[in-house]
Amino acid sequence: MSSEVRRILLVEDEKAIRDAVAAYLERENYWVTAVGDGQEALDEFEKRSFDLVILDLMLPRVSGERVCRVIRDKSDVPIIMVTAKGEVEDRIVGLELGADDYLVKPFSPRELVARVRALLRRAHIDSDPQREILTFGDLVIDISGHKVTVGGNEVDLTASEFKLLTTLSRYPGRVYSRMELVEKVLGYDFEGYERTIDSHIKNLRAKLGDDPRHPTWLYTVHGIGYRFEDPSKQDK
Ligand code: CA
Repeated sequence: MSSEVRRILLVEDEKAIRDAVAAYLERENYWVTAVGDGQEALDEFEKRSFDLVILDLMLPRVSGERVCRVIRDKSDVPIIMVTAKGEVEDRIVGLELGADDYLVKPFSPRELVARVRALLRRAHIDSDPQREILTFGDLVIDISGHKVTVGGNEVDLTASEFKLLTTLSRYPGRVYSRMELVEKVLGYDFEGYERTIDSHIKNLRAKLGDDPRHPTWLYTVHGIGYRFEDPSKQDK
């Protein structure tokens, strides 16, 4: 990783949590701007650029949901949505609003920092146009060559399967809802097609030799959709 200091916008109305999280991130050498409501968050976002946003969902003045929408309309900055325990639906809402990840309170500062690091790494990889060959253990995806191999053996994928695999593997660890995958992979927006994603995943798993009960790459996220994991990063 570069030694350049990353700027984080932290939006949290509970002062005790805000101070603790800010202190922890600062100890990890992040540059933190901490604010206590949604309007302040939008004001800060107007003033300077940030590398990542940590956003509480329930906020005074302007809700986290609204802040997420406004920021997402003008920026691809990684956003981690923070929700209170028990608000199960909120994590889905957060991802649908365009947040990249979510954390449920109470979370450990260590977990937060791990998520922050992972997101910044993904954002960095995504901004590198030279990165055309992705390697995940035995799985090698040659994006420009439209070629996939597992353990050196070429795997014959349909165009949709290839698109699905590249979409998921671009952001290891990120959860995609079926709806998002329909839009990104099939290019249309219709609820009835969500199950076709399941069929494509099933075919992909069979072709890659990925056991759904003990997956190497493709994980089901129950009630939401799917995510891809890089097995070489899992052992840490
Ligand atoms: Ca709150």
